[in-house]
Amino acid sequence: MPVVEDGFLVSTSPATGVEAGRVPISDGKGVEAAVERARTAGAWWAGLNFDGRRTRLLRWRALLAERIEELATLTHAETGKPLADAIVEATAAIEHIDWAARNAKRVLGPRRMRTRLLVAEHSGHLEYQPYGVVGVIGPWNYPILTPLGPISGALAAGNAVVLKPSEYTPAVGQWLADTFAEIVPEEPVFQVVHGLGDVGAALCRSGVGKVSFTGSTATAKKVMAACAETLTPVVLEAGGKDALIVDADADVNAAAEAAVWGSMTNAGQTCIGIERVYAVAPVYDAFVAAVVEKAGKLRLGEEIGPITMPGQVDVIRRHIDDALADGGRALLGGAGAVQPPNVAPTVLVDVPESSAAIREETFGPTVTITKVADAEEAISRANALPYGLGGAVFGKANGIRIARRLHTGMVAVNSTLSFVGMATLPFGGVGDSGFGRIHGEDGLREFGRAKSITVRRGPSLLPAMTFERTPAQVGRIVKAVKLLYGRRP
Ligand code: NDP
Repeated sequence: MPVVEDGFLVSTSPATGVEAGRVPISDGKGVEAAVERARTAGAWWAGLNFDGRRTRLLRWRALLAERIEELATLTHAETGKPLADAIVEATAAIEHIDWAARNAKRVLGPRRMRTRLLVAEHSGHLEYQPYGVVGVIGPWNYPILTPLGPISGALAAGNAVVLKPSEYTPAVGQWLADTFAEIVPEEPVFQVVHGLGDVGAALCRSGVGKVSFTGSTATAKKVMAACAETLTPVVLEAGGKDALIVDADADVNAAAEAAVWGSMTNAGQTCIGIERVYAVAPVYDAFVAAVVEKAGKLRLGEEIGPITMPGQVDVIRRHIDDALADGGRALLGGAGAVQPPNVAPTVLVDVPESSAAIREETFGPTVTITKVADAEEAISRANALPYGLGGAVFGKANGIRIARRLHTGMVAVNSTLSFVGMATLPFGGVGDSGFGRIHGEDGLREFGRAKSITVRRGPSLLPAMTFERTPAQVGRIVKAVKLLYGRRP
């Protein structure tokens, strides 16, 4: 549990209570000063152009790869997650930095655009210019990957970044900014401000060009409201309640393995974690048995770390208790599974759709499995919630067809969570899971403003945008528009 001590924020290991990090706490004035410094730094960084930034970002990527064990150890200390999981998280972040650095020029750089009838004598030019300063607010569950998604896009696009990490994982955020400063010592291009929610709120009101928020849906609404005061654009990566659909022709063993990983990795504290499974009747029994068998082998303190945020334990307990009270059954774990700071893997079946365990984000190593008649019923149940972040489908003939019909931003077919590791694919949700995208080309464009320029190349053939056009010229426009667009296909 983080504490504030003499102007410092002290984070502790959720597993042992031992101090993990100590960073100076900021306030409204500190945030303003950081953003002011970032404005100057951002102008300098933008002036390096795509090639200069690419080189520096690739050097930073190399530093992160060289020191990945150090980063993973710190992440393990602050979140409690297994070291191997922290290594995988850091690797995914490194791949995102690499991709953003290498592709920013292609995606955001100046290009010529085709012209059209009324402006035939003009050439068109498009480029994506940086916002100046991007404020990034991040959660604690993936303290490397979740902030580095938007940060890699924002930096590659030419912005300076001010990060407000979660109060639970400030040292990881600080480490990222400190290592960036080792590579780019000239200007504070990537700064961190520390504190509780009020510091995040101050960042929203600080006059940054854009805010990228990752966290709960409730806080996302507060962030958007604060940003609305200054019409500051936002990217909101919020919570989820992702579903996995197991179709009749699925590889049941592979589906069970992926369901256990998708629901229980990082002790279930994953925004795109699988929290609900809908398995069709013919494979239901075999699937449930395989999930229980595989989840039963997971060990607390080994594959399953502690719950990072103590308050979350109460949410998990309530969801399990409600599910059991509502008529659900625990085939693994259950009422006794909650032993703070740990929660043992829990597999729930027969839970009614009205139960909190089905409707609300649990964020623990729990999963509900529900029998459905067919994929059609699975789709309609999966789509019944206001959340729409990710999801997964196991099946052969109809996997992609089902994936397309899920009302979410991302779906993995015959795996779980894989889209987060593919740096070419945009990441983000719909509905209560937020809007805007990080990662991939859309994630780069999120951090550049489209700038359109026309350049007149010669006299007008069809003068249209002038008071000096003649009736004869308007007549030629009529002829041209009929010739070009008058034929019905
Ligand atoms: P929170 O919403 O509690 O916090 C997120 C960040 O916002 C923290 O840094 C927090 O600071 C800060 N904050 C709190 N209040 C305000 C405010 N009024 N204005 C601005 N910033 C504020 O989320 P958690 O940290 O608990 O993270 C878990 C949530 O994140 C889950 O719902 C999960 O699904 C979601 N998530 C979504 C992802 C996605 O990509 N869609 C990825 C990962 C997680 P402080 O910590 O000091 O309170």
